Amino acid sequence: MMKIAIVGAGIGGLTTAALLSEQGHEVKIFEKNQKISEIGAGIGIGGNVLEKLGDHDLVKGIRNIGQEIEQMEVLDDKGTVLSNVKFKKKTTNLTVKRQDLVDVIQSYVPEKQIFLGHHVVAIENEALKVTLKFETQTDEAFDLCIAADGIHSTIRQSIVPNSKPIYRGYTVFRGLIEDINIKSTHIAKEYWSSKGRVGIVPLLNHQAYWFISINAKENDEKFKTYGKPHLQARFNHFPNEVRAMLDKQSETDILLHDIFDLQPLKTFIHQRIILLGDAAHATTPNMGQGAGQAMEDAIVLANCIASYDFEEALQRYDKLRVKHAKKVIKRSRRIGKIAQKSNKLIIAIRNLITKILPNQFASAQTKFLFKTKIK
Ligand SMILES: Cc1cc2nc3c(=O)[nH]c(=O)nc-3n(C[C@H](O)[C@H](O)[C@H](O)COP(=O)(O)OP(=O)(O)OC[C@H]3O[C@@H](n4cnc5c(N)ncnc54)[C@H](O)[C@@H]3O)c2cc1C
Repeated sequence: MMKIAIVGAGIGGLTTAALLSEQGHEVKIFEKNQKISEIGAGIGIGGNVLEKLGDHDLVKGIRNIGQEIEQMEVLDDKGTVLSNVKFKKKTTNLTVKRQDLVDVIQSYVPEKQIFLGHHVVAIENEALKVTLKFETQTDEAFDLCIAADGIHSTIRQSIVPNSKPIYRGYTVFRGLIEDINIKSTHIAKEYWSSKGRVGIVPLLNHQAYWFISINAKENDEKFKTYGKPHLQARFNHFPNEVRAMLDKQSETDILLHDIFDLQPLKTFIHQRIILLGDAAHATTPNMGQGAGQAMEDAIVLANCIASYDFEEALQRYDKLRVKHAKKVIKRSRRIGKIAQKSNKLIIAIRNLITKILPNQFASAQTKFLFKTKIK
């Protein structure tokens, strides 16, 4: 059994902690914040993740809080359907409130293994051990360190200094609505237009989350002062459903994040450090796969550690995850480029192509997510 440090108690770190502590390893998960909380409204967890979790109890936990999404529609700003993908049973997505998901995963991690207010500021990576240095606590050595410290990972930047997040040209507003009547609760929708892309995603119990992605400069001052009235004015020509959703949104709880991803890395293994989740392969949200891929990393890593010798396990993890993550980053980036077009002529051509392409074409884009091995 190994003494393992996990840095970062996000969705990736917590899933890893849950699965590795079940194997009997001495696991400590370090989180810089004083509490575990997720920024964000809702999130989609793909059928690919649930399938990889197999018969683990977590699936039941996630199903309990999840709304099944059986269909994904893309529409234009007049409400004309451009594509309509129906998921098969195994590819059905579940949508959850982000905090609910984190709470469920955290319930599988023994409390005494979670160390809040532990900010890792440096790391010493040697052949046989890895030592974490904290802002305020004493240094501690481990057999293995799993860096799940997110897109701005201090650990990744200390071992691959040239790997910086790249801004992808759009910014995203998000919100959660606690009381809304959506007619078809199993359909997620995206409206594409020159003013931006609007997504409406149902959750359980008359709740929904929405996102609006708008082309913008990085850290754009113009959008920092944008509130509900600005969004309402910008999208007042959109179908009723969009306007009704913005009307329901409270003025104060609108989130705004610029969208970044990482240039794919060649390896996630650096001696005794393993990169995982956004720290390894942050992607744009266009495939709704960031958190899902972080969970898949955790599943694959835990399976490899249980099935192979130490060195072999790390190599196998690298082999199964690096290429796959690269594919997700690139495909998601490409979808973003297509969906964020703002030139009206190009939009007209794009919409026409999207409309005449068979729906199977869109669903084929995600088939590879189911083909990766888990050990
Ligand atoms: C607009 C938007 C929409 C999205 N929608 C989806 C979706 O529908 N489906 C999906 O699967 N994904 C989605 N994602 C992506 C998803 O949010 C991320 O991929 C996922 O949260 C990554 O999880 P993580 O655990 O790797 O990292 P994070 O969630 O970033 O967690 C990292 C943790 O590490 C801690 N930390 C950082 N540095 C240190 C340190 N030095 N010491 C100690 N602790 C540290 C942080 O405080 C944090 O708690 C979306 C992202 C965005 C921006």
